[in-house]
Formats: sequence, structure tokens, C-alpha cells
Amino acid sequence: AEAKQKPAVDEVLATILRRDPEQREFHQAVGELLATIRPVLDRHPEYRRHAVVERLVEPERMIMFRVPWMDDQGAIHVNRGYRVEMNSAIGPYKGGLRFHPSVNLSIIKFLAFEQVFKNSLTTLAMGGAKGGADFDPKGRSDAEIMRFCQAFMAELFRHIGEDTDVPAGDIGVGAREIGYLFGMYKKLQNKFTGVLTGKGLAWGGSLIRPEATGYGVVYFTAAMLAHRGETLAGKRCLVSGSGNVAQFVAEKIVQMGGTVLSLSDSSGHIYDEEGIDASKLEFIKTLKNIHRGRIGEYSERYPHALYVAANPTLGWNPLWRYPADCALPAATQNELNLADAQHLAAAGVRLVCEGANMPSTPEAIAFFRDQGILFGPAKAANAGGVAVSGLEMAQDAMRISWSREEVEGRLRAIMHTIHRTCLEAAAAYGLEGDYLAGANIAGFVKVADAMLDQGL
Ligand code: GLU
Repeated sequence: AEAKQKPAVDEVLATILRRDPEQREFHQAVGELLATIRPVLDRHPEYRRHAVVERLVEPERMIMFRVPWMDDQGAIHVNRGYRVEMNSAIGPYKGGLRFHPSVNLSIIKFLAFEQVFKNSLTTLAMGGAKGGADFDPKGRSDAEIMRFCQAFMAELFRHIGEDTDVPAGDIGVGAREIGYLFGMYKKLQNKFTGVLTGKGLAWGGSLIRPEATGYGVVYFTAAMLAHRGETLAGKRCLVSGSGNVAQFVAEKIVQMGGTVLSLSDSSGHIYDEEGIDASKLEFIKTLKNIHRGRIGEYSERYPHALYVAANPTLGWNPLWRYPADCALPAATQNELNLADAQHLAAAGVRLVCEGANMPSTPEAIAFFRDQGILFGPAKAANAGGVAVSGLEMAQDAMRISWSREEVEGRLRAIMHTIHRTCLEAAAAYGLEGDYLAGANIAGFVKVADAMLDQGL
């Protein structure tokens, strides 16, 4: 009878394809995880008996809602809001909010799915969720952003809480948006709680939370290199993106003695052969976070740097063609495809570490594996952001705040633990050095065991 059973993994993939045939990103994220946990399912029939995988791919709850708001001219717009509460086996739902025109249910589900295993790897007690809206903040005034955040929270508030579901930022949601969202939540609930993370320092936020994702990615990169007896010092790094993750990836690379050659946004990329140092990074932070400008302005300020406008018809990103040692994609999902991966290999890159969520396509990842290029998968490498969100929750619960040194020390320790956990989980299945398999296996086993413990 056992032999006649179809492999659980194929059955689950067929089920989600049948149920939601159009959810490409979600299928991709599930497919990537399931491909690496087959040996775990073979060794542990109890997971199969208890339908753990079948349960993991169906969100515990999906909330979709209307977000009506008025622009500065008095015109009314309607966006769609989402919160996908994927899994609460190991803690309250936790995960960011993304405001971007590309947002749809597939993207929020893939992000929520990744979040479950990422949060599991952090060593802290957090379940997985993600939310957002198909709202485009580009070109919107501060007042419009505030009204949108208020309208969004006017529905979301009834679904979240400091022990229920704790949202944070993601693309398009930073300190400013968290402030407006928090203000509205407090008005509606008449409660001052740690319901969101990424809060301002004066009102329950944590030091190092803004830096955490980017710094964590670089600690993970450094740990991968250290495992090979190398360091970041002197390494030339290609970085994509110029938002919260990319800015602090760049900052930490520079602090650790590496050189940052590039950054990008949706309009194009810059390449600075001399390296984007700390003072140039300050210029970028002001440009992006305060003026909300485009990355091209960098080459106006620093004329020796190259600016290359994005060309989507190309089918690959010229940013990945410059000679370098390491590549850290920190923009968005599927930004790095097979052609990009081939260009990276030809340019001498020996290590890829993911800052964004699912930035590499499955074909790119397979190519890295075949070429022996070290690969740090997002759910391990970028877990530092949500880890410090967990530390923010802890500080809020205790009504205290830790020093920079305390938080950064804990972040560094967590990233090193995740790195070791990945290697150990991979080794337990004979997959030495496979960080992707290790991250998926370790993240999965903890959640799966908690689900078994708690019954149906
Ligand atoms: N959006 C971030 C991530 O992708 C952070 C989530 C959080 O802090 O809750 O992990």
C-alpha cells in the first residue's frame, strides 16, 4: 500500500495548482521548499500521516478588504488590502506589509509562506503572515500617504493585536507609514501596544530595527565566507535595490572592509568603480528616504559613476555583468534570472546572498548549485529584520529598551545561529554546505513538530 501512494509533495503541488492556478509566485515558493524537504518527509512518516504539508500550504486565514481613500485633489481611489495569516504554530502571526502596485494575492501568499520558515529560523516565537495593498506610493504627497494608511488600518485593526498578529514594514512601508498606521490603530482601539514593529524610538521602537535586515544579510554573508576561511575585507560586491535592505547591506559591507559597486531602483542602476563609501551612502539615504528621488541622481552628484537606465525588454539586468566577488540582490522577487546568473558567473562572482525575498528564480538557483557558487537563501539570510522585530516585541512586552550594542549583539548572534543551523540541518541529510536545503529543512521541522504537538 505504501509503495502505491503517490509522493506527498507532488500531490500537494497538484492541489495548489488546481485550487489557485494563477498564483505563480506562491507556486514557486512552495515548489522551492518542497523540492528540498522530500528527504525529511521520507525519514519522518508522521509528517505525512498528519498531513503537515497539506496544512502548511493553505493559509489559516486570508483577509481581503476595500481601501477607499481621497487624494489631494478630492478624487476618490479604491485599492485592495490584504493580510494573509499563514501559520501560527510557533507564535503570533508576524510579517510585513507591502504597498506596491504589483501586490496581489499570489505575492502576499508567497511572502507569507516564506515568512513562516524564516521566522522559525530566527529562534524566536513568531508565526508567519504578510499583508499589503496594490497602492502605488510613488509621487504621492505626505498627506495622501497618511490618508491611505489610515484607510488601510480602518479595516486591518480588527484582525491584529500584540498577541495575535504583529505587522511591520516591507516594500513601500517604512518608518513614516508605520507611524501613520500606529496612530490610527491607537485611535480605533484606544490601546497603546506593540501591535506593529518598526516603530519610532520614542514610542516603543527598537534601536537597530531599521538596519537589521541589511546588517543581518551581511553577517550571514560573512559567516558563509568565514566557513570557507575567507572574510569580506577587500571583496567587491554588487548590490541591487536602494531601499531599506540595500542601504544597510551596503553600509555593513563598507564597515566590514568590502567595496560596494552598485545600487539600483526600478528606473535603473548606478555603478561606481571607486566604491560607494559611507559619505556617498549618506547622500543616497537622504535622496531615497527624505527626497524620495531616483537613483540616477547619484551620477549627477558623482559624475564619475555610471548610470544605466532600466530596460525591461532586455530580459536580463546589466547590473549583474560587472566583475565582482559577491552579489547581494536586495530589490525584489525574481529580479535575478538564469541569464543574470550566467553573467554573474562569467563576471567572477563566487557567492550570492539574498537580501530581498525570493530574488533568484528557480533556474538561477539551479545554475548556482551546478556551478558551485555559494548561495545564501533569503529565508535564512534576510531573517535579521524580523528577528529584530521579535526583539522589539520583547522590549515592548517588558516596557524597556535595549542599547544599540545589546540589540546588535543579539542580531549578530541570531544570524550566526541561523548560519550554523542551516549547515547542521543540511549535513543531517547528507547535503553538506547546501544552505538552501538546510534553511528549508530546519525552518520546516520546527513548525511541523509544533503542528504535531498541537493536533488538528
Ligand atoms: N518584511 C520583512 C521581512 O520580509 C520584516 C517583517 C517583520 O519585521 O515582521 O521579513
